[in-house]
Amino acid sequence: MASRLGLHRRTRDDHLKIVETIAEMKAICREITRSGKTLGLVPTMGALHEGHLSLVFASKAKCRVTAVSIFVNPLQFGPNEDYGRYPRTFERDGSLLSELDVDILFAPSAAEMYPEGAATHVEVEGLSSRLDGGSRPGHFRGVATVVAKLFEIVRPDYAFFGQKDAAQVAVLRKMVRDLNMDVQLVVCPIVRESDGLARSSRNVYLSPEQRRQALVLYRSLMLVESAARSGENDADRLIEVGKRAIEKEPGARLDYFAIVDPDSLEPLQEVSQCALVAVAAFFGTTRLIDNILLPVR
Ligand code: AMP
Repeated sequence: MASRLGLHRRTRDDHLKIVETIAEMKAICREITRSGKTLGLVPTMGALHEGHLSLVFASKAKCRVTAVSIFVNPLQFGPNEDYGRYPRTFERDGSLLSELDVDILFAPSAAEMYPEGAATHVEVEGLSSRLDGGSRPGHFRGVATVVAKLFEIVRPDYAFFGQKDAAQVAVLRKMVRDLNMDVQLVVCPIVRESDGLARSSRNVYLSPEQRRQALVLYRSLMLVESAARSGENDADRLIEVGKRAIEKEPGARLDYFAIVDPDSLEPLQEVSQCALVAVAAFFGTTRLIDNILLPVR
């Protein structure tokens, strides 16, 4: 039978279980845990691409059972952001997950996740207002709240996230630590197109011209990396290198270029230990992010 999302079971061997209610998801996940199987969770907003799939592979390699969630979380979008037009490709996503032999797809509705009157939020103070949190007020409150709910519903042993969203990783690590959550976060490397552009569900918004312009993100990071390799370790001077590269691309409107501690997201003066070099810029109305870690791990 077709689900609310129009996903059909494709073959008799297809064992992907599609779950749309919290009650059913809890029951299934508790049973898995009770039977002693390791459970991995890959939280996503759908419109799956190779970046998401790398998290699925990582979970499948580590865990007996892999659950993927697809939920376009209204709480993490600002009033003028792209919640309404965010790409939703449930049918295709379901087929992909099925082909990868994922066990469970959790795809609740917004009403299921946030019934009327829901009033509890998770706020990771400080961290939530840095980098993307500075440009997108309330974004990380929405992210932390939904991920905390997913963790409680699924109670996974491991949860898989992409380094692509480096600030999100810092916020969630802190949340897990502060709230003593019994889950281990696994962070997977950024998956890129062959020309260097980080894969993102939002890349579909780009015109061919903007797609070309967006390469400046990775280019700017590579220039910073090469300056650091040549011995420059002053963060301000390295940021200048990155900003100058972005300025050279008239199609790009810089949001931030920052060099920060990857855990606290506090600005660094010098690149000596591990530093996160992060950039965000608009191409038309599309905001893209990218980052590298220095020294390269
Ligand atoms: P999203 O659907 O955009 O919320 O992303 C779901 C998860 O996939 C997050 O943990 C992201 O960091 C991760 N992710 C998105 N793009 C990439 C990428 N290019 N490489 C690795 N992970 C990614």
